[in-house]
Amino acid sequence: MGEQEAGATAHGHRAGRPGFATRAVHGAAAPPVGQRPASTPIYQTSTWRFDTLQDFAEVIAQERDGFVYGRGYGNPTVAAFEATMASLEGTGAAMAFDSGMAAVHTVATTLARSGDRIVASPQVYGGTYSLLATVLPRYGIAVDFVDPTDLSAVETALEGAAALYVETIANPLLTVADLAALGALCARTGVPAVVDNTVATPYLCTPAAFGFTHVLHSASKYIGGHSDLIGGAVCASADAVAALGATARETGGAMQPLEAWLCLRGLATLALRVERHCATAQAIAELLAGHRRVTATRYPGLPGDPSHGTGQRILCGGSGGLVAFDLEGGLEAATAFCEALTIPWIGASLGGPHTLVAHPASTTHRQIDPEVRRRQGMGDGFIRLSTGLEDPADLLADIEAALAACG
Ligand code: PLP
Repeated sequence: MGEQEAGATAHGHRAGRPGFATRAVHGAAAPPVGQRPASTPIYQTSTWRFDTLQDFAEVIAQERDGFVYGRGYGNPTVAAFEATMASLEGTGAAMAFDSGMAAVHTVATTLARSGDRIVASPQVYGGTYSLLATVLPRYGIAVDFVDPTDLSAVETALEGAAALYVETIANPLLTVADLAALGALCARTGVPAVVDNTVATPYLCTPAAFGFTHVLHSASKYIGGHSDLIGGAVCASADAVAALGATARETGGAMQPLEAWLCLRGLATLALRVERHCATAQAIAELLAGHRRVTATRYPGLPGDPSHGTGQRILCGGSGGLVAFDLEGGLEAATAFCEALTIPWIGASLGGPHTLVAHPASTTHRQIDPEVRRRQGMGDGFIRLSTGLEDPADLLADIEAALAACG
């Protein structure tokens, strides 16, 4: 029996103290700290304890502040991220989600119900397009796709609509929406104005200043900034956020504490990273625009770009970190180019430290009818490049070599 007391088993009780499993479950309380840490603690807990049933009842009924459960009832780490996002976007509040798509879905299903109609730009991220075009109609929500640059068509469509949905810088065509004009139209007609500000980030644009009521993000991109999390956020008034919370507590999709902590860390360097992404993207766009193998370059920072003028008015401090271009020679040339690159990787997503290239027609936008896709400006040789944080000179040399290698 060695050291073990006579009569006790390895897991058994000893007089005066709880058993092994009880001690393991209840552990020791964390010692009081009495100092403030530089980094927000990660409150990695799903549930919270109350001293009385009355306390529990009052907090869950939102009669007083407190935390209940990690599925949309709040968490201190998540709340710190939400408060920072609201501050950066200039809104009264924010709610964080476990993906950008959960944010989009919660906004759509909170603002619209069966029988309602949403007016949306057709130039949106592929997953959003699928949600709007195929999922929402299954639940009786109709979606009218209207070109957001045609303001009179938008105005007509807004009559009786439940919401307008656009992207500040559309992924992947990089068209800049005239948020000032669209926000004014929505304010005049009383229609909630929703914008996906993922590609612009709040460093380049704060759409609430143009009257947008719901500003959403895929935090998986520039906000997280390191390609190591999936998350989302919606910034809006306190009442609008309360309405989103009421939906999300039943449908799920709230952000979790570790992701919120990673997002807070990402936000600390957002300004520096976005400045670098913008400067690199501008240099790459200028290289591509002058190259004989490139038939079209889309970057709002180029003076000849269709969105240059709008970008100058809507964006402040840069034109974003994405560049899109069409290569002469279609899919074959796009394949040769992407596979000849040695620094950028082929892969999904954007806004991380690694430069990424993607061929939307065969990947993220494969759901879109090829004719519609080509009409929108995404030819078969269309490539989207998300600048990373590598040395710009290395990237420029690599891109130039890959262009030479594709014929
Ligand atoms: N919005 C934009 C502009 C995106 O690019 C993406 C994803 O690529 C999303 C929303 C969806 O975000 P998530 O992948 O975090 O669900």
